[in-house]
Amino acid sequence: MTSVFFRVLMTLAIIVFVASCGPSTPDKPAGAPITVYVAKTIITMEPDQPKAQWVAVADGKIVALGDGSPPKMLDNRHTQIEKRFADKVLMPGFIDPHLHPMIAAVLLPTHFITPEDWNLPRGFEAGVKTRQAYLEKLKKELAAAPPDQPFITWGWHALWHGPMSRADLDALDNTKPVFIWQRSFHEIVTNTKGMEYLGVGQKADFEALIDHPGIDPAHADFERGYFSETALAAAFRRLAPAVMAPKWLGRGLGEMNALLLQNGVTTVSDMATGIFGSFPMEAGLIQKTYARSDIPLRVMLMPYASEVTARAGSLAAAPALIKKDEAGFEGNRVFINNRVKLLADGAFFVPAMKLHSPAYLDGRPGKWITKPDLLRQQAQTFWDAGFNLHIHVNGDGGLDVVLDTLARLPRDGVHADQRIILEHLGISRQDQIARIADLGLMVSAQPNYLYVLGGKYADKLLEKDQAEHMVRLGSLERAGVPLALHSDMTMAPADPLFLAWIGVNRVNMDGQLMAPEERLSVDAAMRAITIEAARMIGLEDRIGSLARGKTADFTVLDENPYAVEPMRLRDIHVDGVVFEGKWYDAKKGASDN
Ligand SMILES: [Zn+2]
Repeated sequence: MTSVFFRVLMTLAIIVFVASCGPSTPDKPAGAPITVYVAKTIITMEPDQPKAQWVAVADGKIVALGDGSPPKMLDNRHTQIEKRFADKVLMPGFIDPHLHPMIAAVLLPTHFITPEDWNLPRGFEAGVKTRQAYLEKLKKELAAAPPDQPFITWGWHALWHGPMSRADLDALDNTKPVFIWQRSFHEIVTNTKGMEYLGVGQKADFEALIDHPGIDPAHADFERGYFSETALAAAFRRLAPAVMAPKWLGRGLGEMNALLLQNGVTTVSDMATGIFGSFPMEAGLIQKTYARSDIPLRVMLMPYASEVTARAGSLAAAPALIKKDEAGFEGNRVFINNRVKLLADGAFFVPAMKLHSPAYLDGRPGKWITKPDLLRQQAQTFWDAGFNLHIHVNGDGGLDVVLDTLARLPRDGVHADQRIILEHLGISRQDQIARIADLGLMVSAQPNYLYVLGGKYADKLLEKDQAEHMVRLGSLERAGVPLALHSDMTMAPADPLFLAWIGVNRVNMDGQLMAPEERLSVDAAMRAITIEAARMIGLEDRIGSLARGKTADFTVLDENPYAVEPMRLRDIHVDGVVFEGKWYDAKKGASDN
């Protein structure tokens, strides 16, 4: 009885085993069909198989990679060989781990009159580097603009274009509101019509606008038509009907999407969702735009401490609110990933960072966005609650405070999976680089500071040596610090190959070589826009390199970044992207398969 039972059991076991493991019959293919993309070179960013010649994709995921002739049949499934990339180079889809979709949406539809060149989907905007060239371009664009709408331009910077005032603008155009947004986004100058548009044409109305506890009166000037920082936030609310209108934002996001596709970017992190004051509004708009769309982009949302604290009512209640927000997102196109953004010192482009010494040559003191005491409380609260921290820090004075703060956080087994990422890292010292490595921190750096500002800051604001060594990428690479590059768009174009080019060459836009010992290797630069960028936002198990089981996101290039002259890195043409297995042609901007 026992042996009969045993034989039946064994037979059943063998049937189950054969059914689950044995080859299925050729006429009954199992699973989704496979597309095998053949390419001249596939750069995987995986050290154990750095190159391949074909990559097989099914259901938006990579199922195999290899060299030589592509397999005619894989896994006994319907297999199609796709040769459209036969003379192209495939890389993992580029990742920009720090940009601002809402700022981009507000600014991209404005008139770009900037010190540096911009290659926008709507056309090329040549940089203007003198006051005369600035005023000429402004005059020309004002004359061509519709008479009945506010005219908004972005990119003015006093270091190139000199001071601007209401009187300057009235002299150019006193028929319509004209708003000049400073290159950093932190200041606006407007004409008399603009003051009227904001409802502050009369001095009493202006004073009423800025007479609020949160507004520093030094941040605005009635005669000059000037608003910055806290006063700009108040003025912005009056400008919002124009630049936050659904039509305007829709156009801006559309231009951003085209720019990202043109530059091969498939994943971004919105590094401060709620930057205009409301996480729910901005996250809702982003989810509506991308979650179920045919736009080849994945967006990680990043709550930021002060916005969440304000909504939660207290810092102590903020972590739970992020967890609650997180539950509102499903799927892997738009999501929150257990991270929070903190901000230490002021902006680099303004300039308002906190320097140790030597400080700014013109004596300006720099600013804290978050005072050190509050920053310490925020770091502790979110760290204890299990969050990964992303900390904006620009100057070495800001960095001293950040490093002291982080050194006090417990780094025990409980927190073993948590990461800390320093964002930007404009000015730092060698002793700080060593400390960053010792503390096990990661750095997501902004190389465009060096490209745009390196020359001018060396002339006017910083010691020459200090300016030349801004954004110490070579030191970070030598210290083994995980390193990504980001655009912080619109602080730089979301163009990873351009960012990599800056890192590898360190030539600024005035043609000067800045601290050649701080150059990145090509490999570190390419890792910084792929696998390391994925690590910064905790997605390295899904994207950033090409391996079996990972998402089939590819950036399709005309040339191999490892093979071209380093000075030609930024000239490599991006044909388009494969996003979750589907091809998007940068020229067409939409799927054609
Ligand atoms: Zn930013």
